[in-house]
Amino acid sequence: MLYAFAMTPTPTQHVLLVEDEAGIADAVLYALRSEGFDASHCRLGGDALARLAEGSIDLVVLDVGLPDRSGFEVCRELRRSSDVPVIFLTARGGEIDRVVGLELGADDYVVKPFSPRELIARIRARLRRRSVQYVDAEGWKRIGAFEHDSAGHRIRYHGQALALTRYEYGLLSVLLARPGAIHTRAQLMDAVWSDAGDSADRTVDAHVKTLRAKLRAIDPGADPLRTHRGVGYSLDT
Ligand code: CA
Repeated sequence: MLYAFAMTPTPTQHVLLVEDEAGIADAVLYALRSEGFDASHCRLGGDALARLAEGSIDLVVLDVGLPDRSGFEVCRELRRSSDVPVIFLTARGGEIDRVVGLELGADDYVVKPFSPRELIARIRARLRRRSVQYVDAEGWKRIGAFEHDSAGHRIRYHGQALALTRYEYGLLSVLLARPGAIHTRAQLMDAVWSDAGDSADRTVDAHVKTLRAKLRAIDPGADPLRTHRGVGYSLDT
């Protein structure tokens, strides 16, 4: 006799942890597995790259200080062939580390010491953002509360068209391409303003301010444009 099961199991997501401190690694692996993730662990950056080359990893948690090479080198190498989400583990006060990590293509960072629960919340948020994008028949890509027609350079928020200047559009479309990922001011400048001058930071900040006002005019209760002090901006969708 055959039994049919109506419930389709959610595919298990596989997180690779790259961390040389045994205490931290044990706590994170335990938390990941008890939350239903598959989890693998490497102590060395070289081993992590070899494991990633085998595929089937959905997200990487990457310590900056590894015994054989820095987490930055691992991320730089990884980004040549993969857009798998990366969350860095950085030392307290290492603001430069955070900026460097993000500019190498990381999506987020968690500052040590951290609680495994906080890290898992960040992991879930990254994986969820990755899975909620689809494109309709007219070419509008739905990203949470936003819809983006990249061919027509148009963005809607809660179904309403946003009247955006060229730079506001540029800024929002770059943030929408990687929802939730933190972008540094330098990354936004490079992506949106090719002729960056001395007042680079203020230019980004000024446009974020006007963009934020336009989003608030549609939904006063939400503030999807998040400021990461001293680092940059991200967009919640
Ligand atoms: Ca370390």
